[in-house]
Amino acid sequence: MPSFVPARVLIARNALGYPLGARLADVFAGRKIPVAVYDGRIPSVSRTSFRERYLLSKRTMVVLVREGREFQTCKPSAHYQLPLVSGCPGLCQYCYLNTNLGRAPYVKVYVNVDEILEQAASYVQARAPETTVFEGAATSDPVAVEAWTGSLAKAVGFLARLENAAFRFATKYCDVDGLLDVDHRGKTVIRFSINCEYVIDTYERGAPSLDNRIKAAAKVAAAGYPMGFLIAPVFAFEEWRTQYDDLLRRLRLRLPAGSGPFTFEVISHRFTSRAKNVIRAVYPSTTLPLDEAVRRFKRGQFGYGKYVYPADLMTELTEFFRDRIAAHFPESTVLYVI
Ligand code: SF4
Repeated sequence: MPSFVPARVLIARNALGYPLGARLADVFAGRKIPVAVYDGRIPSVSRTSFRERYLLSKRTMVVLVREGREFQTCKPSAHYQLPLVSGCPGLCQYCYLNTNLGRAPYVKVYVNVDEILEQAASYVQARAPETTVFEGAATSDPVAVEAWTGSLAKAVGFLARLENAAFRFATKYCDVDGLLDVDHRGKTVIRFSINCEYVIDTYERGAPSLDNRIKAAAKVAAAGYPMGFLIAPVFAFEEWRTQYDDLLRRLRLRLPAGSGPFTFEVISHRFTSRAKNVIRAVYPSTTLPLDEAVRRFKRGQFGYGKYVYPADLMTELTEFFRDRIAAHFPESTVLYVI
């Protein structure tokens, strides 16, 4: 059973002319999920409040053709975004997409996958013999819809066969079965986003449990993909040391013996004023720590400022994670703690 079953599906009429669009229309109709075909612009959600519109959009899959050939750049981690999916059905209260996707954060899947991959190939050709890296999760969690579309598997296989290409994406979702038998040739890096129980239970509603994420990571490790873990966002709540140490211990125990080495990226919680406003509107009773008075203001690389933990606490977090990751995963690398 896919992790995400949409409450309704909107399909652009021209998407029905592509095999993936026609297949999705049949699959959802067969499952008695309401499907509406639209022309022109995506129909807006007829709900009154910002919150209702936001939450229904998260349960709505839009199946459409990606127009335009150009990809967005994706610095510093990759050269380009690979636009197969946009949006995510998860309801993580702190999510960076809260401010990126506007009032109607639909889960959009693009059906012209072959055209998108051909465009990727032309970027690779233009940069050869340098390697061109594509990021699959810049504006989405693409694994959340993979059981329906199979697009990631197609991209992994395509980019594996393409000289001078590499692919990467991050996920909290578990729908990885279609990726396991792909001939990836070690050119796709999959990073799993994990967190301690308290953070998952309190702030990551709608996303898979820790156990299911670790199960999916174990399958991907057994399939030989290069892999990493994102521990993000880290919250310095009362029991953070015990809970994050327990997270690392459980992870080590449940991953196949001999798997790795892994990379680790640790990102402490931060927020912008704009994100805070959206979070308050969508999750009015949130307990997310959003008090600017106990944070340090840091100007971001894209011009807007964010509120991060104070310097002393950051030093403590950095020392803790470097020490505990080295203890549980001595062969792995901590890329950064920020
Ligand atoms: S799973 Fe990731 S992309 Fe989806 S809502 Fe949660 S943080 Fe956002």
